[in-house]
Amino acid sequence: MRPYTTYQLLLHVERPVQVTVGKLGTYRFARGYYLYTGSAKRNLRARLLRHLSCHKKLRWHIDYLLHAPAVRIVDICLSVEPECMLNQHTSGEISVRHFGSSDCRSGCGSHLKYAGPTPDRVWSDSDRAGRRSRHHDRVRPSPP
Ligand SMILES: [Zn+2]
Repeated sequence: MRPYTTYQLLLHVERPVQVTVGKLGTYRFARGYYLYTGSAKRNLRARLLRHLSCHKKLRWHIDYLLHAPAVRIVDICLSVEPECMLNQHTSGEISVRHFGSSDCRSGCGSHLKYAGPTPDRVWSDSDRAGRRSRHHDRVRPSPP
């Protein structure tokens, strides 16, 4: 089986927050759950640990959002599916265009999707939409 190269972070925004996402601009994020899709061709583990770390230089769009006090990662899903394909199979609304998709050549529009005020149907929706259920695993981050 191919190694995992793609991941999705399930983020919970506990209350509405205004976040300056680097050069992308300042946006208001509604309360609720968001799915961020990313990939690391090498050293996926290091990438995920970086996302979970609070002490880092803010570099990517997702770093700025995770730095906000009301935002945290509540679940992580790994996949062998290409990043953009998985993102496009994920239901949800684009709230900030071009978020995390500066390098995207597949027309995703954004690699962050708003999944709604509750997490109930987050993974089941994306599983139904794609074929990835045979090829993904979930790891739950331990509480800080
Ligand atoms: Zn894309």
